[in-house]
Amino acid sequence: MKCRIALAPRMGREVVVEEVELAEPSEYEVRLKVETCTICHSDIHAFTGEHGEYEGPGTAGHEIAGIVDKVGAKVTYVKVGDRVLCSEVRQGCGQCEPCMKGHPWFCENIPPMSFRVASPYTRSNGEVCIQTCSGASGFAEYTNAHEAMLVKLDDDIPFEIGSALACGFMSGFGAVLNRCQIKPGESFAVVGCGGVGLSAIQGARVSGAIPIIAVDTMDSKLEAAVKFGATHTVNPKKCDAVAEVKRITNGYGVDHSVVAVAGKGLKKSTFEMTAMYGKMTIIGHEHPRNEFLGDISAMDLLTGKSVTGSVMGAVNLRRDIPKYMDMYRRGVIDIDSMLTHRFSLDQIQEALDDSERGALKNVVYIWGIPEEVK
Ligand SMILES: [Zn+2]
Ligand SMILES: [Zn+2]
Repeated sequence: MKCRIALAPRMGREVVVEEVELAEPSEYEVRLKVETCTICHSDIHAFTGEHGEYEGPGTAGHEIAGIVDKVGAKVTYVKVGDRVLCSEVRQGCGQCEPCMKGHPWFCENIPPMSFRVASPYTRSNGEVCIQTCSGASGFAEYTNAHEAMLVKLDDDIPFEIGSALACGFMSGFGAVLNRCQIKPGESFAVVGCGGVGLSAIQGARVSGAIPIIAVDTMDSKLEAAVKFGATHTVNPKKCDAVAEVKRITNGYGVDHSVVAVAGKGLKKSTFEMTAMYGKMTIIGHEHPRNEFLGDISAMDLLTGKSVTGSVMGAVNLRRDIPKYMDMYRRGVIDIDSMLTHRFSLDQIQEALDDSERGALKNVVYIWGIPEEVK
């Protein structure tokens, strides 16, 4: 079918909207009518090739919510008309060893995310678009997606909230619930207070952490951190962040720390602000060659201090997203305040540029911005 999508004609920052041909979904795929796609910084990195270079036109957009428009012959989870969110995370098969041990991320039977592969979109000049950052393309009127990427959205959950839950929020919030596993009263610090860091703060608040220390070099982000539940803020430009975190925690350091930004130096200081028996969880990262943590001594780990990491919040998609929807409904978590501006598909370039300038979470309404959210 013909549909309009946003694509980068060549790897880079320039994005255009044009009509392309979308192939039919395969047997385990659905075709989604995309309603909203929120912008993640990964989309920008993917378009510009920072997540890996690609040749030819590229598509992106991976925080997707919409309506099932067509189902492949072997799809069983959804039917035409269902409201869903579509995530990069796959629901595992439930049968293989990683799935049975609670790690559906490593499922052996559902195809993993494949980046920089051919998308089902063909331009009028015959060029096949490359899917730069997900198994689906959300900056489009329609996309095909494997059914394992879908979670049904409750009727009272707006599409834009579904989109925000599909990646950015779960990366921070899920990491705290699934990896940190904080006990009430334990101390917590997050380094980096962008969307992922603020979601981690919400996870710490929901888990009963105290104190919750936000660390960032931008005061505006620290102000936001307080709104989402931080009890203390630390700006490393104004003080020795490690010393300050230790001062707040009576000299011990925090029981749990999360690093929500890239950079080796930041990981070293986060490790230092973590208590001897504490746990540091890494979310933010850059190219592997830049991030060997070779200067952690064995002695540090003998004290029981541990280092782990989390990708996409280590979530179990259809176990965790329904919980998050319920927490949203009951006002336990705040997603609305994370949404910055709303754009239409035709304003995609503006929306991406605004995100790059630091907007927390922009929403693209594929079919135009509805009156009620303007
Ligand atoms: Zn994302
Ligand atoms: Zn499996």
